[in-house]
Formats: sequence, structure tokens, C-alpha cells
Amino acid sequence: MPSQNSSNMNRSNIAPPIRRSRAQYPKSANLCEHCTAKCCRYFALPIDEPCSRKDYDYMRWYLLHEGASIFVEGDQWYLLVHAVCKHLQEDHRCGIYETRPEICREYTTDECEFDDDYCYELYFETPEQVDEYADAIYGPQFPDLKSDDRDSLRSRKPNSLPIL
Ligand code: SF4
Ligand code: SF4
Repeated sequence: MPSQNSSNMNRSNIAPPIRRSRAQYPKSANLCEHCTAKCCRYFALPIDEPCSRKDYDYMRWYLLHEGASIFVEGDQWYLLVHAVCKHLQEDHRCGIYETRPEICREYTTDECEFDDDYCYELYFETPEQVDEYADAIYGPQFPDLKSDDRDSLRSRKPNSLPIL
């Protein structure tokens, strides 16, 4: 059938994503000209390394919020918030270039996230990941819930309906 064939053909014609690396560009190139402004789409704040169950529970709370994640680089822990700068324009350029904040002026392409293969030593995207990590250190935070329902990603098991 034409519609099925064309859909299969389209799928097989889709090129795999191109892995971008700064090594592909000459040293003189301005990498920002070839980037979708990755550094303008989040902000990250250093946070204290968690050292108690309560600290991990705070981290779990951070990650209950849309766009929040946590990463570790070296010995430093960071709260990462995926939020696009209000002044980033559709062409990936800064809309307030002349008056952009100091932190934007100081940021260079030397060690930025231009390359697509950037990875962290630790990275938490969900509250469940934090819980699992802390559970491995301190034991289960909610042992009763876990014995009740082994799948910790699900909501609490509802109470049974009364028998009439
Ligand atoms: S500094 Fe790096 S991440 Fe930011 S726009 Fe330039 S190349 Fe992209
Ligand atoms: S002010 Fe400009 S350079 Fe700074 S994050 Fe926003 S768009 Fe990017």
C-alpha cells in the first residue's frame, strides 16, 4: 500500500543524529555560531553535598519540581534548573547582548557544553533516583510503603472498598 510504503521509506531515510564535537571545527571558529545556545537554556547553582537523610529528602523535594535536576562535577553538587532565558531569541542569539549579565560575559567556549557527549559524575533527574541512592546509604526511608507495594514508582496502594 502506498501510504505504508511511504511511511516505511521515510523511517529508513531518517539520518541518525549527528554527534557534534568541537574537534570538527577549526580553532578560529566561533562555536557559538554553530550552537543552539545550550548555555542559555538552564541555570545551575552550587549546593552543599548532602550528608544526612534529611538533606537527601530536600533534594527529593527539588526534583519534584518541573525542570529541576541535580548533578555532581568533581566534589561539587549543583542544582540544575532547565529554564530558557527570557532574552534568548529564535535565532539563538542574545536579545540583550550589550547589557547581558556578567556571568554571561565571563562564560567562554573553552569548557562549555557545545559537545554533545558531555556527561556528569552523578546525575539525578527524578525524586525516585534520589530516594534509591539515599536508600542504598541509609536504608529505606519508607519501609512500610515498600513492604506494602514493591514498586516504589507507583502511588500508595488505595484502601480497600468496604464490604457491604
Ligand atoms: S558558550 Fe558554548 S554552549 Fe554557549 S552558545 Fe557558545 S558554544 Fe553554545
Ligand atoms: S542574557 Fe543573553 S547570554 Fe545571558 S543567558 Fe540570556 S540570552 Fe543567554
